[in-house]
Amino acid sequence: MQIAAIDVFQVDLPYAGGVYRLSGGREYQSFDATLVRITTDQGIEGWGESTPFGSTYVAAHAAGVRAGIDEIAPHLLGQDPRQVERVNDRVNQALMGHPHAKCALDVACWDIWGQASEMPVCDLLGGRTAARLPLISSIHAGTPDDMRDRVQAFRQRDYRGHSIKVGASEAEGGPALDAERIQSALADRQKGEFFIVDANGGMTVEQCLRLIQLLPAGLDFVLEAPCRTWRETLSLRQRCSIPVFWDELIDSDVAVMSMIAEDGGDGIGLKPCKNGGLTQCRRQRDIALAGGLAMSVQDTVGSEVAFAAVVHLAQSVPTAHLRCVLDTRDMVSLSTAAFDCAIEDGGVRAPSTPGLGITPNMAVLGEPVRTFH
Ligand SMILES: [Mg+2]
Repeated sequence: MQIAAIDVFQVDLPYAGGVYRLSGGREYQSFDATLVRITTDQGIEGWGESTPFGSTYVAAHAAGVRAGIDEIAPHLLGQDPRQVERVNDRVNQALMGHPHAKCALDVACWDIWGQASEMPVCDLLGGRTAARLPLISSIHAGTPDDMRDRVQAFRQRDYRGHSIKVGASEAEGGPALDAERIQSALADRQKGEFFIVDANGGMTVEQCLRLIQLLPAGLDFVLEAPCRTWRETLSLRQRCSIPVFWDELIDSDVAVMSMIAEDGGDGIGLKPCKNGGLTQCRRQRDIALAGGLAMSVQDTVGSEVAFAAVVHLAQSVPTAHLRCVLDTRDMVSLSTAAFDCAIEDGGVRAPSTPGLGITPNMAVLGEPVRTFH
C-alpha cells in the first residue's frame, strides 16, 4: 500500500464561548484549522487535523502547519502509511522540529492503518481499556463568580474534570485574584471530581509562591504549566507541595524523559498537535507510564478529527494513569466531520469502527488549498 495523494484543507473554527482568555492577556475568538486527507493507491482515505491554539500558545502557528506540510508531503508519496514509524522517519528527515505540522499527516496514516486492518486506532495503540473516559471542561479566566458558574454548568452536563485558567497580571489582581478564582471554582466540588489549575506558563515563580500562600489547606487540585521556562518550573517544583503537571513545555520524547529525570512533575498533558501526532504520543505515553506519571489527554483545541485522535489515544492509557480527556468539539462551533462518540455519564468511549471512525463533512471543508500527488 502506498500514499498516492495528500490534500490539505483549511477552515476557521469559531470559539463556542465568545472570547477565550488566557494568562498574559492572550485572547482567542477563532482557531485556524488544517485538515489533511491522505489517499492510498487502494483508495483508502485517512484524515488528520492540526489546529494550534492561536500563535501565542506554544511555538506553533497555523500558517506554519501548512508551510511545514509543504516541506514534508512530497517525501511521503509512495510510502506505506501503515508503517507509521518509518513514515515518521521520512517526516523527520524532511523537516526538523515543528511537531504541529507533522500531527495531521501522522494521524491520517493511523486512520488508514486502522481502516486497512479493520481495527479502531485505540486497538492499534495497544488495545482499549474498559474505561469511560472522563471529560474535562476548559474554564477560561474570568471573575471568580463567573468561573464558579461555568464549572457548575459543566457539572450539570456530568463533566468530572475542570481545567481552571489562572495567571492574572498584577494590574488585574495578581495572585490574590487567582486565589479567589481557585477557591470559587472549587467551592462546590463533588466527590470524584478532578481539578487542574492551569496557568499556561503565564506566572513567575514568585507569583506562584504568593498564590500558594493565599490558598487555604485541603483544596484538591494539580497545578499545570505554572511557568514559562524549565528553570522556573523546576525551581517552583522544589518549593511546592501541590502536584505539578507539565503541558506547554512537553513537546517531545526528550522533554518527557528529561522532566522525569529531573523529577520535575507528576503528570503531563499529552496533546497530539503539540507533540507531533499519535506515533509520538504513543512513545511519550509509554515513557510517562515508565515514570509513573498521570496524564490528561487533550489537544490544542480542534474539531472532530482532532478529538477522534484524542479519544483513541486516551482509550489506550491505563485507567490508573488517565485523569481526563478534553472534548475539543465543545470548544468550537463548527463541525468538520461526523464522529460517533456520544457523551454518557460524563464520559466517552472510542468507537469500534475501523480507523478513527470519522466521516468528513466536505460541504464544510470545501476544496483543498494544496494537493500533492
Ligand atoms: Mg494546559
